[in-house]
Amino acid sequence: MSLSRRAFVRTLGLGGSGTLSAALIAARGREAWAAEALPGAFEDFEQQMSTGRNLIRISSNENPLGPGPAAREAMLAAAIDSNRYPMNAHASMKDLKATIARRYNARPENVILGDGSSELLTNVVRVFTSPNKPLLNGTPSYLDPEKTANLIGSPIRHVPLTTDLKLDLNPMLAAAKDAGLIFLCYPNNPTATAIPKSAVADFVAAVRKMSPAPAILIDEAYIDYATNPTIGTNVDLALANPGVVVTRTFSKAFGMAGLRLGYAVGQAETLKTIDPYGMPYNANNMAIAAAIASLNDPAHLDEERKRNTAVRTFTIDWFEKAGYKAADSQANFIFVNIKRPSKVFRDMCLENGVVVGRDFPPMEKTHARISIGTMAEMQKAVEVFGKVLSATSATAAI
Ligand code: PLP
Repeated sequence: MSLSRRAFVRTLGLGGSGTLSAALIAARGREAWAAEALPGAFEDFEQQMSTGRNLIRISSNENPLGPGPAAREAMLAAAIDSNRYPMNAHASMKDLKATIARRYNARPENVILGDGSSELLTNVVRVFTSPNKPLLNGTPSYLDPEKTANLIGSPIRHVPLTTDLKLDLNPMLAAAKDAGLIFLCYPNNPTATAIPKSAVADFVAAVRKMSPAPAILIDEAYIDYATNPTIGTNVDLALANPGVVVTRTFSKAFGMAGLRLGYAVGQAETLKTIDPYGMPYNANNMAIAAAIASLNDPAHLDEERKRNTAVRTFTIDWFEKAGYKAADSQANFIFVNIKRPSKVFRDMCLENGVVVGRDFPPMEKTHARISIGTMAEMQKAVEVFGKVLSATSATAAI
């Protein structure tokens, strides 16, 4: 039996279609408001919900379709084992590590799990940075590692992106001396760009020659959406080099952001320094079952990549024709030069039922991040973008 999204939620007892759409939208919405901490946004969202308004949610880089049919069926089957701890359940943490390891011709000890990749990012920063071992990050890039660095008193060094909004590896190398950890967001959030894999390999080799060599964390949350053949996973580098870790997540292309499951790959000795910081049982039974089923269904992942690519191209083309350029996107979101402050654009989009990404300093005066929803959502969204861009002044950027 294959389950549609609607039938799946009905099976879980969430009621009829009216209740279903309210429940799904509420779940997506609350997460985004909390994550993005938009002032007053949560109240606004609650108000929108109470008026029954259907928002197009393209702010959190979520997969709009959720887990594939095989993953949904596996979750349902796993629900029965909810009384068991993950290592005792039918599809266990051990099975998942082995399944992941096979994907990379690695061994289960080359894999550790996390409550989303967020838990792993946090713990890698805790292990490799300290008040005298800075974190090095591109800017703008993903900020979660910086939050942990701030909490534990580790200094942060920022290296601006190139003019085409990619990580700039030469200055990053120059700034790496005495750093504890270099963070490479690949593809980079919020700009969606990625550099060729060969450039990352050269960078890793150069860093490994430094003494002491900083650790390198490569965050591949969006890599399954990359379509440029020069871009690919760096897991081979993590397996070949001590102190190099790649993190991956089931939150994006696998559509499981709410299930919370991620993993890190690296040499066993490197991972042994990180895993003790993990929460016990940080991967739950339903997520594990869904993840194994997803990994065994590569055709679904290919379909999701193709779907995202088509909608991404449609959206980028629309902006180009309207006179606005997006950075090259290798992810399920785009970073567009809208030539006016992101807040002006975002607020008016929200008034018109479309929720786009928060500010991304230092580019919040000119750029907006827009996640890729379904084709139907983006067709409606571009109508709103057109209306908003013609109603607001481009000079507001100055
Ligand atoms: N890394 C990047 C670049 C992200 O954008 C996100 C979330 O949006 C994460 C990691 C964390 O994702 P999760 O904890 O759901 O795996």
